[in-house]
Amino acid sequence: MNIKNDQTVKFWTDVWLSAGKLIDLAGEIGTQKLGIPRNARICDVWNLRASRDQHIQQLVEVIRQFPLSLTVNVPDGVMWRNGPDDYRDKFIASGTWQQIRQSRDEVQWSTIVWFSQRVPRFSFITWLALCDRLSTGHRMHKWGQPQVCILCGESDETRDHLYFACPYTYTLWLKVVGNLFGAEPDPDWGITISRLIT
Ligand SMILES: [Zn+2]
Repeated sequence: MNIKNDQTVKFWTDVWLSAGKLIDLAGEIGTQKLGIPRNARICDVWNLRASRDQHIQQLVEVIRQFPLSLTVNVPDGVMWRNGPDDYRDKFIASGTWQQIRQSRDEVQWSTIVWFSQRVPRFSFITWLALCDRLSTGHRMHKWGQPQVCILCGESDETRDHLYFACPYTYTLWLKVVGNLFGAEPDPDWGITISRLIT
């Protein structure tokens, strides 16, 4: 069901059936039984699923038989929701992703990881490192798989140790990047990241 030109009528809480509000007829549990959010509008509801609850099933039949009258002479049809009030004929992956993802405030280090000419594999590893989710010996210790730093023998192989408190990786880092950033590399993870950000 989709009313293209009426995108304001609430499915559950507005009176559009002569019998009254659906939320009163079905009860609060109705939203779960039909899988339709309490704040859904009629135009959001495109499928009424079957329910074992006979009362709900009877309501579904009443809704199906309800004559929907369009106030503008446009054909009824199913459309893709691209945003809160944006319905389109075509499916757009980015618009759908924005709706189903949980967005958070932008982090300070985002531009270190995500930039236009990034190599996706490197970005992903950098992202894991910044979130401290690399499979280091320290993290594997929590899973019962203790592992020392195989490069220098340090018992607690943490992210900060590898980048670049470890004397071996620090020496390697010096050889690879030298003073690429205009300053001596720092064995402290926090200082390295804040330099990269600035
Ligand atoms: Zn080490």
